[in-house]
Amino acid sequence: MNKQRAVGLLSGGPDSAATLAIALREGYDVHALSFDYGQRHRIELNRAAQIARLLGVASHKVIVFDLRAIGGSALTSDIAVPKADPAAPVGVGIPVTYVPARNTIFLSLALAYAETLGAAHIFIGVNALDYSGYPDCRPEYIAAYERMANLAIKEAVEGRLAIRIHTPLIGMTKKEIIQSGARLGVDFSMTLSCYDPAPNGAPCGQCDSCRLRARGFEEAGLNDPASQGGSR
Ligand code: ZN
Repeated sequence: MNKQRAVGLLSGGPDSAATLAIALREGYDVHALSFDYGQRHRIELNRAAQIARLLGVASHKVIVFDLRAIGGSALTSDIAVPKADPAAPVGVGIPVTYVPARNTIFLSLALAYAETLGAAHIFIGVNALDYSGYPDCRPEYIAAYERMANLAIKEAVEGRLAIRIHTPLIGMTKKEIIQSGARLGVDFSMTLSCYDPAPNGAPCGQCDSCRLRARGFEEAGLNDPASQGGSR
């Protein structure tokens, strides 16, 4: 039986690594896709390549474009990444680390790639519970995107592909994501969560993403292999 092809978005973070591990376990022939978009945490791309290799995906492609031309985010311009006391709660509202229309841009590139591969399935590690308030991580956004995708591409309109956007993490807590990834053998030491890492990849420990990760590992009762050995 032919394996079903899927495109899996891979950032180098724990959520996308867990998502791809789930896709592989479900039997998909996973083609990983990463984006070099001018993100300040660009070191995550090295991690993405290592994760792709460790997971054993069918292929890994990196598409280069530069969202710094648009800016408007702490991740792509000179706006400072907010840092807080690790013990303080993660703030409410949409933070400055929001990248304008990022998942719409990412999913559109994934959709184009899927069409050329003949892949009906796209996996993206969005999460609507323990996330930072991004509007393009919500289930209603994903459902709308999937409807749009099937109106948008030739292969769908002519009946050869019915695009499905898979979001296996969307209803999970960070704790559940960590547990699920750990069960599937994800090497979290390779994953990078930090929005503002040191040049050597050491996480800052204070941004929202570092804090959510720390809480996830703590609640899962696991040690974070990436935080061992003093990384500051
Ligand atoms: Zn950080």
